[in-house]
Amino acid sequence: MESDTLKLLKSLIERPSVTPDDAGCQQLLVERLSRVGFECETLEFGEVTNLWARRGSAAPILAFMGHTDVVPTGPLEEWHNDPFKPEIRDGFLYGRGAADMKSGIAAMVTACECFVQQNPDHRGSIALLITSDEEGPAIDGTVRVVETLEARGEKIDWALVGEPSSSKDLGDVIKNGRRGSLGANLTVRGVQGHIAFPQLADNPIHRIIPALNELCDLEWDQGNDFFPPSSFQISNINAGTGVHNIIPGQVEVHFNLRYSTELNQQQIIEIAEAILQKHGLDYSIEWTLSGLPFLTGEGELVEAAQRSIKQVTGIDTKLSTAGGTSDGRFIAPTGAQVLELGTVNASVHKINEHVRVSDLDRLSKIYQGILERLLV
Ligand SMILES: [Zn+2]
Repeated sequence: MESDTLKLLKSLIERPSVTPDDAGCQQLLVERLSRVGFECETLEFGEVTNLWARRGSAAPILAFMGHTDVVPTGPLEEWHNDPFKPEIRDGFLYGRGAADMKSGIAAMVTACECFVQQNPDHRGSIALLITSDEEGPAIDGTVRVVETLEARGEKIDWALVGEPSSSKDLGDVIKNGRRGSLGANLTVRGVQGHIAFPQLADNPIHRIIPALNELCDLEWDQGNDFFPPSSFQISNINAGTGVHNIIPGQVEVHFNLRYSTELNQQQIIEIAEAILQKHGLDYSIEWTLSGLPFLTGEGELVEAAQRSIKQVTGIDTKLSTAGGTSDGRFIAPTGAQVLELGTVNASVHKINEHVRVSDLDRLSKIYQGILERLLV
């Protein structure tokens, strides 16, 4: 007998929703959620389809967050089954989006259905914020929905992101924050000239090396209980014409900082530019912020998740802020508590992506347990 969560997951995988095409996934969610009293609103921005579904009108709001889009399959001949025709082998379900993150979405929906059946008069509101643009540019997805909600005063208190956070076993790791990511394109100018007449030139490579050394050696911070120390990394250095007898006129350097909550972007920019100025460089720099750091410390949401995981799996879960950015970055600045909790992430974006079938109902039970702890 296939469980409800497994059946729904299979139906979602059968819809080939490669970013930004939702391929009817959200319509399926609308049908399920409307039946149990959710008001469903489709918000389209550009090519992106987003869904905001809410049951109840009171505060607080517990919102499940996720995305229906998936990354491309890669070479089909390397898959052991059609990635959009889910198949179970040895206790695992294979298909594109099985782990990232249609299993999370299926589990959210069945958790809400069971919870509502047992608690039709729950307090506050349950919501789902689903986008079809998480894997792509993420411009017309979650960020636009959050703006829309803020403009009309709908405030999410707890955001539970269904991304695959687990490492080996379901529930062993949950993500309660992310590092910030700040990049820079730096150009340092000198004067081009003949290698044989350095007195007539000004070598920008020689000028920039001591400054880069200082930036690399700097201890930006020591991190804290939740974050490793902030890290400065150079990704590109370009200068020179390819010949041996020319001092180049300029050098370009790209670098990035993955930073903890001990620093903010303004502090980083001031420290870096002070170093560049101290070395007397003639430079220009462009900074790009791709995500603010955020951290949800101990609180109701973390506690509800820890207890629910313990009850369903017996595991004492570990809090982590490792990994790349997620859509949690768009909701954290509104003051919401944000947590990522989902299936095992070992196969995400890979060929033969899969999820353990027995984890599906357990994930649904964990989500349901969180609803019971926060909204009863
Ligand atoms: Zn994802």
